[in-house]
Amino acid sequence: MGSSLNKSLVALAFAASFSASAFHNTSQKFELSGEIKQGGLIVGKTLPNNTVTLNGKVITVSRNGDYTFGFSRDDKQRYQLVITAVNGDRVTKTLIPSIREYNIQRIEGIKKSIMQPNPKSVARAQQDSKQVKAARKISSELGYFAQGFIAPIKGTITGVYGSQRVYNGVPKNPHFGLDYAGKTGDPVKAPASGTVLLWVPDMFYSGGTMIIDHGQGVSSTFLHLSNSYVKQGDQVKQGQVVAAVGKSGRATGPHLDWRINWFGVKIDPALVLKLQPLD
Ligand SMILES: [Zn+2]
Repeated sequence: MGSSLNKSLVALAFAASFSASAFHNTSQKFELSGEIKQGGLIVGKTLPNNTVTLNGKVITVSRNGDYTFGFSRDDKQRYQLVITAVNGDRVTKTLIPSIREYNIQRIEGIKKSIMQPNPKSVARAQQDSKQVKAARKISSELGYFAQGFIAPIKGTITGVYGSQRVYNGVPKNPHFGLDYAGKTGDPVKAPASGTVLLWVPDMFYSGGTMIIDHGQGVSSTFLHLSNSYVKQGDQVKQGQVVAAVGKSGRATGPHLDWRINWFGVKIDPALVLKLQPLD
C-alpha cells in the first residue's frame, strides 16, 4: 500500500460524513456514495477485478466495478469493508451506521376485529409475503442501482421510513416505505431502470404490488396500485410509466407506497433519492 493511499485513508477516517469520497492508486479504486446511517444504501465503485467483502461476506462487483450494500432500520453493527486488488493490495474501511430516531405513535382503544384478521386472510397474507421475499432474494447482474434514482411520482410525502404505531401497547411493524399522496390512476414512474420481478394485482395487505429489480439485490416495490402497464420479465427504463396509483389492499385512501430493498434489508427510499452516481 503506497503512502499517498495511507494519507487518503486518514483523511477519509476524519471526514464526519461523506456523500462521495475517493482515492486511487495504480491497483485500486475506492469510491463510495450514500449515507452511513440506519436505512442507508451505499453504492461503491472499484476496479472490476477487485474483490469486495463486507464483514467477510463477498459482495458482487459488476463489470463496471459497481457494488452496493445497505443498512437496516435498527442496524447497530460495525462493518469492515475490504477491497482487495488482484496483486494483493488491500484497503479496509470501518463503517458504523449512525443511529436514527423514528416517529413512534401510540394509539389506545383499538377494537379487536381491526387488529386480528380472519384465518383465511392471514393465510393469504403469508402467501403474499413468501412471494415478495422470494422476489427480493434475486441477485441479478444489472447495475442500474448505481445510476441514481428519481421520485416515482410528484405527490406530497405523507408517510416516512421507520415510523411505527403502537396499538394498545403492542408495537406494529414499522413503516418502511415513502408514502406519496396521489389520485387513483396517477402515473407511477420507474425510479431507476430495471426488470419487473413481480406484478400481483390483489395482495391482501398491499393490493396491486409491483417489484422492479435494479440489480445486485436492489429492488423497488410499489404498493396499493390500481393498474400495471408492464408485466413480469419486462425491461423498464428510468422515468417510464409502469403503473397507476390506487388504494387496493388495506389502504385508507389512494396513495403510493414506494419501498427500496437490498435483498431482505429494508432501505429508506428518501436516502436513495440523494445518491450521487459515481464515475
Ligand atoms: Zn405506506
